[in-house]
Amino acid sequence: MDFEQLQAQCMNCTRCGLHEGRTNVVFGMGNPGAPVMFVGEGPGQHEDEQGLPFVGRSGKLLDLYLDVVDLDREKVYIANIVKCRPPENRDPLPEESDTCLYWLRQQYKLIQPKILVCLGRVAAQRLIDPKFSVTRQHGEFILKGGTWFMGTFHPAALLRNGGQKPTALADFLALRTKIEEVCPELYRGR
Ligand code: SF4
Repeated sequence: MDFEQLQAQCMNCTRCGLHEGRTNVVFGMGNPGAPVMFVGEGPGQHEDEQGLPFVGRSGKLLDLYLDVVDLDREKVYIANIVKCRPPENRDPLPEESDTCLYWLRQQYKLIQPKILVCLGRVAAQRLIDPKFSVTRQHGEFILKGGTWFMGTFHPAALLRNGGQKPTALADFLALRTKIEEVCPELYRGR
C-alpha cells in the first residue's frame, strides 16, 4: 500500500468511537518522504474543522519554531497519535490511542523517518516511554529501531506556560544539530 492509498483508507476509518464526533479525519500533512516526523496528540477544534494538524494558535507557534531551525511543513511530516478529535479536547483514551496507532505505524513504516519528535506528553509516553516526563526528559535523543526519538513541549502547553518557550527553543536547536548529524540533506539547497 502506498501513502495515498493509506490516507484514503484512513479517511473512512470507524475503528474507534472518536469517528462519531469528528468533522474531518486529520491524517497528517507534509512530505511523506521527509526524514523528520513530528507527532502530536490529536486534533483540536480548528484541526477537526480544517482537516489539518496543528492549525490555529498552537500551529502558528509550531511554524515559528520550525522556521527558527530552517524547516517548514513541506520539509517534514506532521501527524498525531489519534486522527479524530476527542470530545472537549480531552486526552485520547488508551483504547482510542491503541486502535488509532495502527494508522501512525503504517505512516511511520512508509516514511521511515530518521528523527521523530514527539510534541507533548501523550505522544512521548506512547512512542518513547510510558513514564516519559516532558519536564525532565525533553530534548533527549533516544535511538530506537534506527530512528532518533525526542520529546519536547506541546505548542498548546507553551501557550499556557510561556516560561517554557526558551526551553522548547533549545530543544529545536538540538533538533537542528541532530539533523545536521543524521540527515544533513534536509538542509541542502536552503
Ligand atoms: S481516531 Fe483513529 S481509529 Fe478512531 S476512528 Fe479516527 S482514525 Fe479511526
